[in-house]
Amino acid sequence: MMHIVLFGPPGAGKGTQAGLLKERLRFAYIATGDLFRQHMKEQTELGRLAQTYIDRGDLVPDEVTIEMLKNEVNKFSGAPGIIFDGFPRTTVQAEALEKMLGENGEKINLVLALEVPEDVLIQRILNRGKTSGRSDDTDRKTIIKRLKKYKEVTEPLKDYYRKKEVLHVIDGLQDIEAVHRDILQALEKTVGR
Ligand code: AMP
Repeated sequence: MMHIVLFGPPGAGKGTQAGLLKERLRFAYIATGDLFRQHMKEQTELGRLAQTYIDRGDLVPDEVTIEMLKNEVNKFSGAPGIIFDGFPRTTVQAEALEKMLGENGEKINLVLALEVPEDVLIQRILNRGKTSGRSDDTDRKTIIKRLKKYKEVTEPLKDYYRKKEVLHVIDGLQDIEAVHRDILQALEKTVGR
């Protein structure tokens, strides 16, 4: 199985690129943000818990997020691969994922890190907020907090994956098709290795 992480700050285009990629590869797709929103919609216990963090622009605690992710990964044992979107976001999560995959002799094969300047991210998220129905996308303060969290606890994971020689940085400021092309190129290199 091949495992790909779509990595980057909120608004970088992870979801958009995941959509294009999964159509092409027929991989399973796991987006922790989507899973939380589904739980919130269904008002499950997990959904109510997650909402308190998400509305504040905070990350949902690691134990809860990792537990949810593990359940999801287990559903896809027959897939050719998995695309992870929005996970991992902390070192604890990255280590948990590594351990989990390692138990089956698997690992993260490729981390695609989309890079976009902060002012563009804010604008993109505010635009998305006009139609997404996401309350965390409409309030500038919450958006800025999410970006700060990304810088503090998530972005350092780039070094974690660089050391493992799976990190591939992509210019996320390009248009959607150009980003997709870069992603396919990175993928070809990884498969050819
Ligand atoms: P996203 O749709 O990826 O932007 O995620 C929306 C929100 O869900 C984030 O701002 C976090 O509050 C929460 N969330 C999503 N994924 C994670 C994760 N891996 N760890 C902690 N919180 C997460």
